[in-house]
Amino acid sequence: MQKSVFWVAVCALLPVAAQSQNGYWQNHVDYTLSVQVNPENHTFSGWERLKYTNNSPDTLREVYYHLYFNAFQPESMMDVRSRSIADPDKRVTDRISKLRPEEVGRQTVSNLKQNGVDLYFETQNTVLRAVLAQPLLPGQTTELTLDFDGQVPVQIRRSGRNNKEGVDYSMAQWYPKLAAYDRHGWHPDPYVGREFYGDFGKFEVHIGLPATYVVGATGMEVPALVNDLIPSKGRKAKKEVRWWRFEAENVHDFVWAADPEFVHKKIQIPNGPLLQFYHRPDAKSSRHWDRLAQDAPLFFAFMAEKFGPYAYPQFSVIQGGDGGMEYPMATLMLAQGDEYEGFLGLFAHETCHAWFHGMLGTNEQAYSWMDEGFATFAEDEVMNVLTRKNELNPHLGSLRGYLALRKRGAQEPLTTPADLYDVNFAYSIASYSMGSLFLVQLRNIVGEDAFWATMRAYYENWKFKHPEPSDLIRLAERKSGMELDWYLALWAGTTKGIDYAAEGVQRFGAGSTGIQLRRVGNFPMPFDVEVRTRSGATYVYHVPLSLSQKQPENRKSAGGRAVPTVVRAWDWTHPTYVLQVGISSEEITQVVVDPHQWMADVERKNNTWTPPVTHAPDETAPAVEVAPK
Ligand SMILES: [Zn+2]
Repeated sequence: MQKSVFWVAVCALLPVAAQSQNGYWQNHVDYTLSVQVNPENHTFSGWERLKYTNNSPDTLREVYYHLYFNAFQPESMMDVRSRSIADPDKRVTDRISKLRPEEVGRQTVSNLKQNGVDLYFETQNTVLRAVLAQPLLPGQTTELTLDFDGQVPVQIRRSGRNNKEGVDYSMAQWYPKLAAYDRHGWHPDPYVGREFYGDFGKFEVHIGLPATYVVGATGMEVPALVNDLIPSKGRKAKKEVRWWRFEAENVHDFVWAADPEFVHKKIQIPNGPLLQFYHRPDAKSSRHWDRLAQDAPLFFAFMAEKFGPYAYPQFSVIQGGDGGMEYPMATLMLAQGDEYEGFLGLFAHETCHAWFHGMLGTNEQAYSWMDEGFATFAEDEVMNVLTRKNELNPHLGSLRGYLALRKRGAQEPLTTPADLYDVNFAYSIASYSMGSLFLVQLRNIVGEDAFWATMRAYYENWKFKHPEPSDLIRLAERKSGMELDWYLALWAGTTKGIDYAAEGVQRFGAGSTGIQLRRVGNFPMPFDVEVRTRSGATYVYHVPLSLSQKQPENRKSAGGRAVPTVVRAWDWTHPTYVLQVGISSEEITQVVVDPHQWMADVERKNNTWTPPVTHAPDETAPAVEVAPK
C-alpha cells in the first residue's frame, strides 16, 4: 500500500504539538535488551540497543548511563555512606565492605556506539559518561548500542542473588540505564542508597537462563523466537538455555526475577490488569494468594475511581528483593509475615506505586515525597476500605511519624535530595509521612471535592510524564479556585511548624459569642473548628486563610462528612482571631480546633477549650481563668 504523504506529515507533527503544551517536553527511550545469566558463577553478558529521542530544545553533546551494580563493591559511595551515616539501613551496614571478589556486583560496558560509530566514554563508580560522535539536535532520534557484562552481587540491597528467602535472582537495576534528561538537565545521580528516575518508553527484553528457571518481570510475556538473533557475545547456542521475552510500553524501568522453583499463579482483574503471583513453594505468603485474589478487584476499582485507572495490561507480585520495592508493572516483595493484613498492606503500598512512580514518574531523588508519600497516602486510603475500618481520617500514622521527627529535632526540608538527608530517619519520615501529610492537608485546605478532582486531573494530565510539585499545586488551584503557592513553599521548603490554640470564649450578647483563637506556630493554615453545646448539638466552622483568596463553593470538609459554615478569613499576620458564632456562651461545652487531625498541628493539647469548672466561693483560686494552658 502506498503511504500517504499527508498522513506521514500529520503524524510527524502530532507528538510535537502534544509536547509543546505548556512548554512541557520529555525525552523518549526505546530499549531492546538481551541478557544471558550463567548461574554457575553468577556472571551475565548482554546487548543493548537504545533508540533515544531528544524532545528538548537543547542540543545534547553527551549522555550518561547508570551502572548500578558497581555500587556493590568495597569503598563504593554506597558502601562508605552506609558505614558513615549515623543510622545505616540494617540491610546494608558494612556488608558491602566485606564482599569478596566473587560476591561483588559489577557492570562493564564495551563497544558503545552511536549509529555504528564508536564513542569515547568513561566510568566513575555507578555513572558512565559518553561523548556523542554526532550532537543530538532537538527533535532528533539516535541509536546507541553497547555490550555489557558483569556479575550479579550477593544481595545487599534490592537487587542481587540468593536473597534471604532463597530466591535465586532479583534483577533490578541490572542493565546500563540512560539517565533522565529533563527541564533541569541531566540526572546522573550516583547510586548511594535509593531513588530512581528514568525516561518513559518501550522495552523489549530477552532473558536467557537454564530451562529450569521461571521468570517474572515487568511487561507482558510474548513467545520468544527460536532463531531470535539478537547479537550478544554471551548468547551461546546452548540447548539447555531457554529464552524468555517480555515487552512493555510507557514504562521507565524494567525488573525481573527468576527462580527454578517459582510457582506462577494468575487471575484477570475485571476492568483491570492480569494479576500474576510468583513465589517459591515454601513462601509464607503463598497461602495468602486466594484472599489477595478476592481483594485485588476492589483494590484496583478503588484506585481507578480515586486516582485514575491502572493503565497497563498486567501487574506481577514477585517474591524477591529485600522488603518491598516498586517497579513498573511489578513489585519484588519478601514473603515474610504470617498475618494476611501485613501482606495485604505491603501489596497495597507497592501497587499504589504503580500510580505514584510507575505512571506518574516523578524524579524520586528530587521529590521522593511525591513518590513514597503519595503512595503512602493512597495505601492508607485503600487499606481503610479493604479492611472495612472506614475511619474518617486513616492518616494518623503519618501524623505520628511527623511528630516523632519534630520531637527528635531532626527535620529537614522536603527539598533535600533523597540521598542527602543527614540521617535515614529524617529521609523516611520526610518522604513517607510528610509526603502523605502534604496530600492530607491539601484535602483539608481545598475541601473534599476539589481535592479528589485534583487527584484525578493529576493522573489525566501527568500520566506517563514527570510531574513536579508545582504541577500538582497548579491543578489544585484550578480545581479549587484558591491560591496555594504558600502551602507548597512552606511545607516543602521550610521546617516551620503548625500550632493553633483555642483560648476561650467571650460573651458578645444574647445568643452571640466570640471564640478566641491563637496562631502559636509560625506556619499559617486554614482549619475547621467544632463547637459543641449543652443541647448535644455540634456546629462546624471553617476558618480560611486570606492567603488563599477564594474558597470553593459548598465546600465539604476533608473526609466529606461535614459542610462547615465558612467564616471570615484569617490574615496570617495576625496572631489572634475571634470566631463569632450565633450561640450563647453559656451553651458552649467544648471548642476544638481541627477535631479530626487533618492538619499537622505539633501541639494538640491547646486545640481544645472547655469551660472552667465553677469553684466553690470559699476557694482561694482565681474565680475565672478563661484560657487554660
Ligand atoms: Zn514505597
